[in-house]
Amino acid sequence: MADPLHERDLARPALDLVAKAAGAYLEALPDLPVRDPAADVLFDRLGGPLPEHGAGTLAGVEELLDIGTRAAVQSSGPRFFHFIVGGATPAAQAGDWITGLLDQPAGLWVASPLAAEAETVVLGWLKDLFALPDSYGGVLTPSATFANLTALACARNWWAAAHGVDVTVDGLAGLPTMPVLTGGYVHPSNRKALQILGCGRDTLRVHTRDDAGRVDLAAIERALIEIDGPAVLIASAGEVDTGDFDPIDALADLAERYGAWLHVDGAFGLFAGVTPRLSHLVRGVERAHSVAADGHKWLNVPYESGFAFVRDADLLGRTFGASNAPYLPGAGDTHLNYNHLGPESSRRARALPIWATLRAYGRAGYRAMVERHHDLAVHLGALVEQAPDLELLAPVTLCVVCFRYRPPEPFTETELDELNRRLGTELIEDGRVYAGTTIHRGKVALRPAIVNWRTVAGDVELFAAVVREIGARVAGELRAGGRAGEA
Ligand SMILES: *Cc1c(COP(=O)(O)O)cnc(C)c1O
Repeated sequence: MADPLHERDLARPALDLVAKAAGAYLEALPDLPVRDPAADVLFDRLGGPLPEHGAGTLAGVEELLDIGTRAAVQSSGPRFFHFIVGGATPAAQAGDWITGLLDQPAGLWVASPLAAEAETVVLGWLKDLFALPDSYGGVLTPSATFANLTALACARNWWAAAHGVDVTVDGLAGLPTMPVLTGGYVHPSNRKALQILGCGRDTLRVHTRDDAGRVDLAAIERALIEIDGPAVLIASAGEVDTGDFDPIDALADLAERYGAWLHVDGAFGLFAGVTPRLSHLVRGVERAHSVAADGHKWLNVPYESGFAFVRDADLLGRTFGASNAPYLPGAGDTHLNYNHLGPESSRRARALPIWATLRAYGRAGYRAMVERHHDLAVHLGALVEQAPDLELLAPVTLCVVCFRYRPPEPFTETELDELNRRLGTELIEDGRVYAGTTIHRGKVALRPAIVNWRTVAGDVELFAAVVREIGARVAGELRAGGRAGEA
């Protein structure tokens, strides 16, 4: 095998192979274990030295399909409840294939007017879906981490300007530390954004009023009075361990009163706004200066997909506009060049799968899905409360159920932590369902999240049954002498 030019007639047969395998794979997906540890041996076939002479198009594609469909964690299937991982709706998945097929460089308008126009359209649709003012600027990002980065970069720009500095041109030198205040629900990606931005991740001031991490509004207000100048507030719309929310409206009041910037991290929680049943959770989000969310979580668009909105639309360009390399469009260019509005330069046309899924299911489809997931979370919460050996650790607010295994016989808190930690590990090894552990109010807990369009009642019921089965076994082992400290 040599130059791919010699295999140009195989582009279509290669895609046919994928489409054929996809049919069988998708049919099996709802019943596959989330992970088959026996398939790890296939990783050997990924390795070896760089091939000097390739295997050829069809052989290469066949091999990857074989390894991939068997060794993948089936995170797009209905029983992956770990972290907060969405699936891919049929339309979004096909839209993603179209994105690959067309392979558009989506940074500059001239390179793909299609991608730029589609991005403008889907950003408008998303603003509408989440009831955000249409005047907000926006950009698609690879993730909520990048969306938080994008938003906080704009906040930094605004804050430095208030100190008379153009941070885009001159950087942070000579400026004081940017005050960033939040509650205990803050997601680590915000710290990561601050660390990337040169603001320092440990400068984040976390004001909590209890061990669950609920925000202490009075302490934030006192801090704002003391700062007596521009500051940044981060509100969490959807905390990853319990799905709980910061009071966005109250934080917006503080931002207004003290002239602060309010950023809302709504990676998955922003979707509460899609249904009247839950929209009270995000009340006030339309008053934020910036909002970040994910497409690859609750929108159920394939990785990677996120989006950021900024109230002062011009700030995006001022923050991310490139220096004028002679080959780039100049100041006279009136087209939207999205690579001047976000941290990336070259990027994929990630508007296309978003367009496809919103076109296919519309507002009503997403409302129905979010309500169904909320119903499923409430259902799982009820199963937990009814089971004598499970303990709900936080109210079910949205799509996350925070609970632990707790057998009727007395175990100390330390032993319960040990039990649940082992349970978490064994759950992953078992592979029928997937969930992770966290520490909630000092207790080791499971925190399944339900955000996959495929998930139905039978999946969460199986989840509860598997947790009880493995929990009982681990509890038995601990009772039989393997308790913490004795092992
Ligand atoms: C998942 C999540 C993020 C980070 O999103 P990525 O898509 O993983 O980068 C940020 N904030 C919250 C609240 C999240 O749930």
